[in-house]
Amino acid sequence: MAPVNNIPPDLWEECPSCHQLLYAKQLANEQWVCPRCGHHLRLSVWQRLQISSDPGSFQPWDDDLPLVDPLNFPDYQAKVERARKRTQMNEAVLTGQATLNGIALGVGIMDLSFIGGSMGWVVGERITRLLERCADLQLPVVIFCASGGARMQESLVSLMQMPKTSAAASKLREASVPYISVITHPTYGGVAASYSFLGDIIIAEPQAAVGFAGPRVVEVTGLEMRPDVQSAEFQYEHGMIDLIVNRRDMRRTIHSLLCWFQGIRPPTANEQNGKPAMVGELDE
Ligand SMILES: [Zn+2]
Repeated sequence: MAPVNNIPPDLWEECPSCHQLLYAKQLANEQWVCPRCGHHLRLSVWQRLQISSDPGSFQPWDDDLPLVDPLNFPDYQAKVERARKRTQMNEAVLTGQATLNGIALGVGIMDLSFIGGSMGWVVGERITRLLERCADLQLPVVIFCASGGARMQESLVSLMQMPKTSAAASKLREASVPYISVITHPTYGGVAASYSFLGDIIIAEPQAAVGFAGPRVVEVTGLEMRPDVQSAEFQYEHGMIDLIVNRRDMRRTIHSLLCWFQGIRPPTANEQNGKPAMVGELDE
């Protein structure tokens, strides 16, 4: 009898936490949160965009910025090319304009699978332009952060992105434009030390790792650190993070915040479960 081997390879996905085999379509319906153990699986930028904006509403910004290679770093350009083919991204962050339940906003989504979501010149410049343009256009900003830190191949140029993006976040604040930062697993280094912690509201997904130096770097220093220090939950308990939100509630939470920022009543849970909510002026 001929072997049966016509099962699509992407029909099932294994939860990396509890190792349960999960039906891919069901997992997509659960927004890639394991229904068995609650683990938040890593998302591609395109999956994040799908669950965080209205279909067809996204318009990319600044997607033609050139790669910077100031040190002529060995294999850097080839590494970027390989990352581009693998991820269908041309850099480690996507920025642009979209709508969420009809509300216009600027959005940035980082891609951990693109050289570890590291921040070089292009990432810093895109984030900076996103923040500055949204200040000019009076558009609220939501950035989904995920990064291993600065991109070592660009040396000092990558470190300079920290003050540059931080200054751009200040311009947003001066323009009284709201900025929601969403920390996803993991957010480290130069991104954790700049725009990811400068949001007016800082949200994290459950169990997201967050910190400046990663555990392996800390281990090299010989210092001892509680294993849970670099977790979203610890940072929440110590006032560094405002909300921990399950991914399945993320869209509703961000929409409610955007409504509040605009002075309109957020829809109730019943309204959100049914047809689009009618929003009205706040009572007070
Ligand atoms: Zn699981």
